[in-house]
Amino acid sequence: MTRLTLTFDNGPTPGVTERVLASLAARRLPAVFFVVGQRVLSDGGRRMVEQVAAAGHLIGNHSLTHTDALGDRPDPAYAEREIGETFAVLADLGLPTAMFRPPGNMGKIGSHLLSPGAVDLLLRERSTTIVWNSVPRDWEGPEWVDRLLASVRAQEHTVAVLHDIGGGCAELLDTALDRLLEVPDIEFTREFPDEVVLTRDGQAVSLGPQHVSGPWSSGRPQSPGLRAEGAIT
Ligand SMILES: [Zn+2]
Repeated sequence: MTRLTLTFDNGPTPGVTERVLASLAARRLPAVFFVVGQRVLSDGGRRMVEQVAAAGHLIGNHSLTHTDALGDRPDPAYAEREIGETFAVLADLGLPTAMFRPPGNMGKIGSHLLSPGAVDLLLRERSTTIVWNSVPRDWEGPEWVDRLLASVRAQEHTVAVLHDIGGGCAELLDTALDRLLEVPDIEFTREFPDEVVLTRDGQAVSLGPQHVSGPWSSGRPQSPGLRAEGAIT
């Protein structure tokens, strides 16, 4: 069994997100959309995110502005604004979510992902913080389809980051999905394996110092090594 969780980040983008939805709907495939708060609030964004939810996909928070990585901005007010305001925007639309994905720098995992203030907020708000284990770089050109296939074949459970933005995956998504459906025993899911779950319902799962720009004050696992398999050092 090969599992794949498809995630679409940085939207909604009217004119693009519809195409992604159509490609998924034609194959009855589930996905998770990590949306940018400002884009939800922009022209047509609200209608678009409502359409994503109506199609049965999950929606997560992917920051308010998607500008500086949280770990590069230690001021707790920045985390409150980027994370907290987007949770509020989605809740106001009747689309509450506890899922948050930090913006990365071109898909890199590192201490730029979260600041101590961001971690404290995510634990306090009982959020589920999701990263990834595959970034096929759909913004670079058509080779992303091969890179996605390769990571699906190499891993038991791939959590792939694609983008519903102009110049992202939409153009080749039909091709990519048809090729993925030929992978033997593939299961498309909206679940996330622990390795990409930094926090779940406010509890640290795979969260470690390698994801945070400094020490944080709350929610450290009481017993090092209980869950995180080497992540706590
Ligand atoms: Zn992003």
